[in-house]
Amino acid sequence: MSTQSAVVPNAKFLKQMDDTIKVNVNLCFQCRKCSAGCPMSYAMDYTPAQLIHAIRLGLKDLVLNSKTMWLCSSCQTCTTRCPQEVDIAKVMDTVKIIAVSEGVKPAISSVHSFNKAALRNIKWFGRMYELGLIGDLKMRTFEFFKDMGLGVKMFLKGKLKIIPSISPGRTLTTWKIFSRVNKKERI
Ligand code: SF4
Ligand code: SF4
Repeated sequence: MSTQSAVVPNAKFLKQMDDTIKVNVNLCFQCRKCSAGCPMSYAMDYTPAQLIHAIRLGLKDLVLNSKTMWLCSSCQTCTTRCPQEVDIAKVMDTVKIIAVSEGVKPAISSVHSFNKAALRNIKWFGRMYELGLIGDLKMRTFEFFKDMGLGVKMFLKGKLKIIPSISPGRTLTTWKIFSRVNKKERI
């Protein structure tokens, strides 16, 4: 008897993607130019073209549990190269958002922790405060000694400022942006 479980397509997934971002992944004709140009595809479990294909097939569980979108660096190379003008980078972001909103454990949790720490940092300081980001990330991941040597080197070269650059006007602007996003998310 086979031990393989059947893959169950989720017919609503494609519509969910379409409704959320208005990107028609059905335009993809699998030329794989996106995958060929992606600087992160070597580390992904599914290449960008494969992920797009999986979305078209409605393989929601496979897509939401994939490492691919968590490794995407949003460099936009795929989107720029696609002859069908499929905004693959936007698809990557959307798949992340759907995974988080549906409580799917991120396949690479450190990336999700980094995203949360970076957003909080920008919200509070109006720009990136690297030392604050490192502290926040360490508290989320409990990897207190990871990359410590690199951190010391950066600090000695003056790349990590002890005091954040604070500008009330800038912080107010970012607070307004975050508040608008929060309102939209509640709608
Ligand atoms: S480049 Fe565009 S058309 Fe080609 S495989 Fe990627 S998404 Fe599909
Ligand atoms: S945006 Fe993401 S998926 Fe597209 S090429 Fe860059 S890293 Fe790869």
